[in-house]
This record gives sequence, structure tokens and C-alpha cells, in this order.
Amino acid sequence: MRNRIHIDRVTYKNIVRWLRFQTVFILVSSIVSFCLVEWLINNYKLSWDLIFRALALIIPMVLFITVINTINARWMAKQATDLADGLAKAASGDYHAKLDPSKSSIFAVAYNNFNKLEEELKKANTLQDEFVNNYSHEFKTPITSIKGFAELLLEDDVDKKNRDKYLKIIVEESEKLTYLANSSILLTKLNSQGIIPNKNKYLLDEQIRRCIIVLEPEYSKKKIDLSCNLEEVEYFGSEEIMEHLWINLINNAIKYTPDGGNISVNLRVYQETIIFSVIDSGIGMTEEELKLIFNKFYQVDKSKTARGLGLGLTIANRIVQLVEGKIKVESELNKGSTFTVILYRG
Ligand code: ADP
Repeated sequence: MRNRIHIDRVTYKNIVRWLRFQTVFILVSSIVSFCLVEWLINNYKLSWDLIFRALALIIPMVLFITVINTINARWMAKQATDLADGLAKAASGDYHAKLDPSKSSIFAVAYNNFNKLEEELKKANTLQDEFVNNYSHEFKTPITSIKGFAELLLEDDVDKKNRDKYLKIIVEESEKLTYLANSSILLTKLNSQGIIPNKNKYLLDEQIRRCIIVLEPEYSKKKIDLSCNLEEVEYFGSEEIMEHLWINLINNAIKYTPDGGNISVNLRVYQETIIFSVIDSGIGMTEEELKLIFNKFYQVDKSKTARGLGLGLTIANRIVQLVEGKIKVESELNKGSTFTVILYRG
């Protein structure tokens, strides 16, 4: 069966315009040729026989070129139409069109780029869906729990012990909602920012020491031995944003280190490079888990959601990206993890 070429109205009009231009061009060239021949006859006394022979050669040639050009124009239009159709589909949210670069010599690069663009759009779409699903899940769970325990509290026969227990759960779940709202707002803010606002010079070691003091109740509760070795270093940046980075990393080390474990927080300076590291003797992670920890809402152990929501490292990673630094993780299951942040003094 013959494969019919489907051409839309605009492309069709363009082809007609192109053919019209060719016809006019051939007509004008013929008239110019005729005038030239006339001039040659008059000035150089050429014979009509010679001219007819020349025309017999030129006319079939012109016709042949016209036919070839027409076929060529349709072929080019077909490739352009495929590209236009694909773009129209992508614009309407359908990212499944694929273009075969081997079928187009002229648009091979454009076809390749189109396929890449489709892949990226598909990925972004999946991530967005995942984010919405995760967000709804993380949002719904505490609300369901709060509603359930509030209903239990409304019952007449609740004794003091149970009442306190339900109230404690309600408080914890409300805190989780607050944390989720704050983290999402912060992440959205960081994602929409291209540069860090409100920068000033301050002592980084002092800021990290303050973060450790804030987290003192957490690691003391778990009898974790936290040591720190912080070199004095001045840094030019946003104190407010950097604080989230240190708190997230040190807090994770505390959360994922069992009672009685060790954590060491270090800050070193080497010429223009500042190296921060937090080393824990915690639960560690496998190679596979390490690849995913910076993804939104990723948690190695979903069953222990009380530990967090999976946004801390996404936020940390984004902050490091914004300050044009680097973040590295080394980890061994059941041995511990080391998170290293490299900053540059600009
Ligand atoms: P969460 O709120 O769950 O802590 P994060 O984004 O901070 O979310 O971390 C993502 C996941 O990475 C955590 O759920 C945890 O499984 C893992 N993780 C992060 N830091 C550590 C660490 N120091 N030791 C072991 N696992 C960690």
C-alpha cells in the first residue's frame, strides 16, 4: 500500500508558494535567455538551427529540474511536517512522538534534539507526578492520624493515660505537618532562586557551632558522642540559607546513628577551599540507596517516616548547587556515613 503524505494547509500553501516562485524564475530565465539569443543572432549572425538544438537541450533540462525540485520540496515538507506534528503533540502534553533521524538528512540534528527534548519532558512530567503523589501522601497521613485521635478524645470514657497519649500523637503529627509545609516552602523558594540574596561576611565555624548547640538535646538524648574540630573561617554568603544546610546534615547524622554512637563535625580551610564534613558511625547506606538520597521524598526506610520526610537532603543539595559548591557522600551499610561539602571563597 502506498504511504500517503499528509500535509497540513500551511505547509501546502508554502509548497505552492515555492512552486510559484520556481515557475516565475524559470519564466524570467527563459525570457532573459530569449533576449540573449536574439542579441547573439543579431550581433554574431548565429543560425536558427544551432539555437533550436540548444533549446532542445535546455527545455527538457528545465522540465527535469522542475520535476526533481517538486519531489524534493514535497520530501522536505514531509520531514518538516513530521517535526511540526511532533512539536504540536508535545505542546499539548503528549510526549510519545518519536522521530527517526535516519529518515531525514536535512533535519537529522533537529530530530535528535526533538527526541532528547521529549525524553527530558517525559522525565520532568514523571517527577512532577511523583512529587504530587508523595506530597499528597505525606500531607494526608498526619491529617488522618490527627482526625482519628481527635475523634477518640471526643469519646466519654477516655482515661488520663490514653488522653495524654493521643494528645502527644496529635502534637507530633501537627509538627510533622508544620515541617512539611516549611520544607516545601523553603525548597520552592530555593528552586525559584538563581542567586543567593542577602549575603554578608560571617564566621562559618561559629555558625556551625551554634547549629550543634541547637541540636544538643537530640544527640544527648541518644547518648551520642559528638566531637567537633572547626577551623576559624570567614565566609561570604547567606547565613539564613547556610544554616539549613548544616542543620540538615548534622541532624541526619544524629537521626541515623544508633544510641551510644559517634559523630564528628569538621571544618577545614585549604587556600580558597572550605571543606566541611560530618562523619557518623550510624546505619549507613548501600550503593543503590546512595544514588537516590537527593531525590525529593526519598527515604531508605519508608516505614520509619517518624524520622523525617525525605526533603532534607534535597534542600541541602539545592543549597550547595546555589552556592556553586559540591556535596559528596561516602557510606557503608551498618558502618556509617560521611557527608562532605566543599565551598569556595569567592
Ligand atoms: P529524611 O527527612 O528522611 O531524613 P533526607 O532527605 O534528609 O530525608 O534523607 C533521605 C534519606 O537518606 C533518609 O531517609 C535516610 O534513609 C538517608 N540518610 C540521610 N542521611 C543519612 C545518614 N547520615 N546515615 C544514613 N542514612 C542517611
